[in-house]
Amino acid sequence: MDKDVQQGFETLAIHAGQEPDPTTGAVVPPIYQVSTYKQDGVGGLRGGYEYSRSANPTRTALEECLAALEGGVRGLAFASGLAAEDALLRTLCVPGDHIIVPNDAYGGTYRLFAKVYERWGVAYDPVPLGDLDAVRAAVRPDTKAIWVETPTNPLLGVADIEALAAVARDTGALLVVDNTFASPYLQRPLDLGAHVVVHSTTKYLGGHSDVVGGALVTSDAELGERLAFHQNAMGAVAGPFDAWLTLRGIKTLGVRMDRHCANAVAVADMLTRHPAVRTVLYPGLPDHPGHEVAVKQMRAFGGMVSFRMASEEAAVRVCERTELFTLGESLGGVESLIEHPGRMTHASAAGSPLEVPADLVRLSVGIENVEDLLADLRSALG
Ligand SMILES: *Cc1c(COP(=O)(O)O)cnc(C)c1O
Repeated sequence: MDKDVQQGFETLAIHAGQEPDPTTGAVVPPIYQVSTYKQDGVGGLRGGYEYSRSANPTRTALEECLAALEGGVRGLAFASGLAAEDALLRTLCVPGDHIIVPNDAYGGTYRLFAKVYERWGVAYDPVPLGDLDAVRAAVRPDTKAIWVETPTNPLLGVADIEALAAVARDTGALLVVDNTFASPYLQRPLDLGAHVVVHSTTKYLGGHSDVVGGALVTSDAELGERLAFHQNAMGAVAGPFDAWLTLRGIKTLGVRMDRHCANAVAVADMLTRHPAVRTVLYPGLPDHPGHEVAVKQMRAFGGMVSFRMASEEAAVRVCERTELFTLGESLGGVESLIEHPGRMTHASAAGSPLEVPADLVRLSVGIENVEDLLADLRSALG
């Protein structure tokens, strides 16, 4: 096939970075479970491989695939999403620098800023990213990055990536987008002007709740080199088996996301009409404050649905009464999950500006039969 023709997303998900193995013809990249490589004479590396912290062929396949899916020039795979964030922040910042963060970021991201980087002299300001004037006003001469998450975890807030890219351009800050909730199938931040995309590949990219990983993808080759230097110098790389599992998950990303989205729409619709539910947070609903921006920048609205009950007790009760929706943290796998963010994933944000409402329930809508999912929720809601 002519490699100059830009291939479609589903084709890239299956083939990018994954030529059949040249010696055996294996159609899937082998798990190169190896730490070091024979050199042909001192410095005579075969294919650039010398030590698996620096590079490993299974990881390379994943990194090339991720770069292709996000439309970037360089992808890097890490041991977790937070390890990827840490490598990015230490590449971009020195003590005295400043970052703008969403006022409803993922709890673990917020904890990294508040409990780790603050001690190292990197300041941050939580800002509502839907308010562009507030973002502009928060930018300081030492602001190195505007950190965006869209849709956000767990409140499903939507930020306008293209508009924030313009703010970043005007101020000289980099635009970083955590694309974990949407996945590159639904949203491609680099096409909209972002400089770096962050992923927890643990979620939709891996897709089967069987691997923890993270990734960075950038559209800037020079920044890509600096990130790769830090990946190697800091060392929190994805192992070969984890890289292989993630690649395997990515092959079905498109078909999985189609079903996640369709099931989530049905769930959001049912919840909206249920008398025990106070509010439904889903960017696909026309009355969601970010709906128009979501229509503009996303292919569909994703598989995450949050809703608010009448009280904390009612929210906890629903979480404990579902049977098909498994009570657990994480998201993005084929199986449906339910959780109480205030006491579980976002407990670390308690008492901070990012504290989440106590009556909130978060669903990761899986790809099971939709009637079974609706019946389970109806029965738990009573
Ligand atoms: C889970 C998550 C992370 C952190 O990723 P880990 O793989 O758990 O380290 C970052 N951002 C978002 C939006 C997440 O959901």
